[in-house]
Amino acid sequence: MGKSSKDKRDAYYRLAKEQGWRARSAFKLLQLDEEFDLFSGVTRVVDLCAAPGSWSQVLSRVLIKGESFGRTAWQNQEAAFRQQMLGINQGKTAEKTETAAAAPRTDVKIVSIDLQPISPLPGIVTLRADITHPATVPLLLNALDPDSDSTQRNPVDLVLSDGAPDVTGLHDLDMYVQSQLLFAALNLALCVLKPGGKFVAKIFRGRNVDLLFAQLKLFFTRVVVAKPRSSRASSVEAFIVCLDFQPPAAFQASLEKPLGVGEYPSQAQVEAAVAATLEADKSKKASQPQDDSSSIVEIELEDQTPAGVPTATTRWIAPFLACGDLSAFDSDASYKLPDDYVSLDPVQPPTAPPYKRALEMRKAAGGAYGKTTV
Ligand code: SAM
Repeated sequence: MGKSSKDKRDAYYRLAKEQGWRARSAFKLLQLDEEFDLFSGVTRVVDLCAAPGSWSQVLSRVLIKGESFGRTAWQNQEAAFRQQMLGINQGKTAEKTETAAAAPRTDVKIVSIDLQPISPLPGIVTLRADITHPATVPLLLNALDPDSDSTQRNPVDLVLSDGAPDVTGLHDLDMYVQSQLLFAALNLALCVLKPGGKFVAKIFRGRNVDLLFAQLKLFFTRVVVAKPRSSRASSVEAFIVCLDFQPPAAFQASLEKPLGVGEYPSQAQVEAAVAATLEADKSKKASQPQDDSSSIVEIELEDQTPAGVPTATTRWIAPFLACGDLSAFDSDASYKLPDDYVSLDPVQPPTAPPYKRALEMRKAAGGAYGKTTV
């Protein structure tokens, strides 16, 4: 199956090459931003699990260069494509999706981290590190504020994590590793986010994800599960978008006692705090009826247990939102390409893919079936 076949089957793969993005994931972030206005008022960002760097490219182009990629841009792109397919305006190149950029901003700080090397990007500090390792936190803090001591750290406005493990195909194992990556990202976010800050992370929707949502609701006023149009409907992937970071008064971020590990916080603590958060939500909604964080909430307080300890069964179901303008390409559809279509090479081939060694070994062994002597 050739490159142009993939171009047909995956409009976002093709568009990414045409628009200079290192990966089709760029569109997921752009569509999340369309829905949640993620970049508004943001100058300090941490991009976790960032290689090959398409999210960082988006950050660099939007926050530093001041380019905008709004709904209108998507509609123009789709219209140009349709016109091209219908033979109208032949020869006219597709409209540029970005608007004219202002002078690059110098007050923006973006730090991107990945296990894999990330090729340099204008205005972005890149680190090669494991986000699950405690040593990554001081590295990150230092990259954010190289000239400050530990008492003068400036918090960040937005933490992104598009982390995904190398999928094994063993569903439970993949879900587990993904959830560990998510907790690592959340623990890093709790250490660096400023009140009011935002956290966006990839999740795999599956069993027990409700508890995670409930935990996130402890820290953020609004928690939504979002599925951008560029994320295939058949994939379990979605993004948890957490807005307005408001940690509980007594909460102290600590990597010695990270969330998601051991007994901290306990189920009872989570339930008590969720109940309190929901109560606060209810009174807030009563005073601001236009608030759309309309989650389905179920709290059932059970009778006393035999030991006399009250227990609570708390379910907090995060709202689910499909996002990305309806005029945007459908990631599950195949699109017919013009007869004279020329397939482009990817913008940034992986610098050190995990499968590189396997390919080298296979090559050394004489190909997929080994050296044959006839
Ligand atoms: N957002 C990226 C972009 O737009 O180019 C794509 C990210 S890719 C889907 C997932 C990344 O997670 C991979 O580059 C992988 O190396 C990274 N990753 C997985 N586990 C990690 C870990 N423990 N620490 C840091 N990065 C990790």
